[in-house]
Amino acid sequence: MSTTEPSPVLRTATFTCVRCGLTTAVLDPGGARRDHCPSCLSSRHVVDQVEGGPADCGGRMVPISIAVPRGGAWRLIHRCTLCDELSESAVSTDDNHLVLMRLAVRPLAEPPFPLDLFGEV
Ligand SMILES: [Zn+2]
Ligand SMILES: [Zn+2]
Repeated sequence: MSTTEPSPVLRTATFTCVRCGLTTAVLDPGGARRDHCPSCLSSRHVVDQVEGGPADCGGRMVPISIAVPRGGAWRLIHRCTLCDELSESAVSTDDNHLVLMRLAVRPLAEPPFPLDLFGEV
């Protein structure tokens, strides 16, 4: 038995996305606590990433990028539209795959240098 079983309250809790209005379970299929909408991947700035604890900002956090730690699973990077603070969170198995892929390939679609340089190496 695991000692990290979520409480019965969390198991049935839901939240409503500030961007697309989707109401979704707080726990993802793997039992982890969500901090962003599985459909549009938006989030709310309710945790202070720098100092820890609750943030009083409450701004909308939009997904801006994917980070991949060495040997680890994808992490989703959010930026707050109000205060510009960045946050990092785990990707859930039922997060919108299309939005995730769009974020992942965006840098390749718009490189800051000409890609044909690779042809001369
Ligand atoms: Zn949403
Ligand atoms: Zn903020």
